[in-house]
Amino acid sequence: MADFDIAVIGSGPGGQKAAIAAAKLEKRVVVIERRNMIGGVCINTGTIPSKTLREAVLYLTGLNQREMYGQSYRVKDEITVGDLGIRTQHVIGREIDVIRSQLSRNHVAVVTGTATFAGPNTLDVHDEQGRDVKVSAEKIIIATGTRPARPESVEFDEQTIIDSDGILHLQAVPESLVVVGAGVIGIEYASMFAALGTKVTVVERRERMLDFCDLEIVEALKYHLRDLAVTFRFGESVAAVERRPRGALALLESGKKIPAQTVMYSAGRQGMTDELCLDLAGLAADSRGRIPVDDHYRTAVPHIYAVGDVIGFPSLAATSMEQGRIAAHHACEEPLPGIHHLQPIGIYTIPEISFIGRTEDELTKSQVPFEVGISRYRELARGQIIGDTYGMLKLLVSPEDRSLLGVHVFGTGATELLHIGQAVMGCGGTIDYLVDAVFNYPTLAESYKVAALDAMNKLRRVARFEL
Ligand SMILES: Cc1cc2nc3c(=O)[nH]c(=O)nc-3n(C[C@H](O)[C@H](O)[C@H](O)COP(=O)(O)OP(=O)(O)OC[C@H]3O[C@@H](n4cnc5c(N)ncnc54)[C@H](O)[C@@H]3O)c2cc1C
Repeated sequence: MADFDIAVIGSGPGGQKAAIAAAKLEKRVVVIERRNMIGGVCINTGTIPSKTLREAVLYLTGLNQREMYGQSYRVKDEITVGDLGIRTQHVIGREIDVIRSQLSRNHVAVVTGTATFAGPNTLDVHDEQGRDVKVSAEKIIIATGTRPARPESVEFDEQTIIDSDGILHLQAVPESLVVVGAGVIGIEYASMFAALGTKVTVVERRERMLDFCDLEIVEALKYHLRDLAVTFRFGESVAAVERRPRGALALLESGKKIPAQTVMYSAGRQGMTDELCLDLAGLAADSRGRIPVDDHYRTAVPHIYAVGDVIGFPSLAATSMEQGRIAAHHACEEPLPGIHHLQPIGIYTIPEISFIGRTEDELTKSQVPFEVGISRYRELARGQIIGDTYGMLKLLVSPEDRSLLGVHVFGTGATELLHIGQAVMGCGGTIDYLVDAVFNYPTLAESYKVAALDAMNKLRRVARFEL
């Protein structure tokens, strides 16, 4: 008999939720995690530190209050890495405590060390003191996540030339920063440092950034970031980075030279599979370290599952959690319906972006007609009260049945506000509900009613012309 029913490798969002779900189904469960990494990348180096850092930046810079109190408003003039780190460490500590408590309350065993497969049902766990433990399990769930991909040609030194993990170990807020790669992580950090007053240059190989988002909203974000003195270099590549006494010189293929105190590479992520000895379990990963899975998150070896960032897109904490829960239920022979087709996207730039469903570009490309309903925060009492005059909510509505095809939000609270739209879409609702509903006043949620009325009026105008 195996030691456990389910062994989970990795305690990030995917692993955690898989372990708890299996424990709730009364299975004997173990989680294997490396030292000081309980909670995974999410808690220790990714989501939680970056979102806490953002909160600290917004509070200390007073950025969101400047509309009210003037451009010189600051809570603290000289913001140090220490000021920012206090909040981050506090939240990380609390979150780790919550996770440890959840695992122990549910009688999930935790083994500390790095797991490698010794066979299809057996794992060797090596800890930092050189000790080895063997763990066997009927089913195994791989939730080992990713690490930042590092181009081989670049010499990372953890202070001047760093990846996104390095941001959390900087000794000082840099005066200037080059961000290589305008993906979600790159742009989130670019906006935080720009808010701190760092002179940021973003270099992106492609001509556009965040091309999966609504074009109008990305344009609004670029406008705001430029206003915070961010320079964009689209369609450009970094050929080399030279370390110099006062920082680094980023040399672009076009011949441009950008001096900066720090250069941060945000060049995608690599699946954490190289230490797993997957071949001993009969498995293989692709060149980016990702493990292919079926709809139930089963790998090519049916009793081994993989969830979270290690399986690739969309690589979000929220999705990883749900994948973990679904995989655990399947492994415990109590399968769930599968992941919902509507998945929200949240981008914690300053200002933030969130959307669900389809974009205008996607609908136009697939020749699906739609009407647009817009609400601007500056026309809402709550928008005026909080001093957010740029935020907006956009509804994409089907003229055929007035159902919601997409919801796009930009500005304060976008990532929270979106979920009203998600609930309406998920329940098959139409804008009729939003038009008729009474919202608390004054709220940003009211933007749904305003945007729905806007869409309804436009649809009515079209109908009148058709008479
Ligand atoms: C800077 C940054 C910001 C982000 N912001 C957001 C956000 O705002 N919202 C969002 O939804 N997502 C965000 N993400 C993505 C999110 O963090 C990931 O999607 C999520 O953490 C993936 O969860 P996971 O379960 O796959 O594992 P991870 O969180 O990646 O954790 C995997 C764990 O497995 C462990 N492990 C690896 N190999 C082994 C082994 N052989 N043995 C034992 N343990 C092992 C690792 O130590 C690690 O702790 C962000 C990521 C980064 C980097």
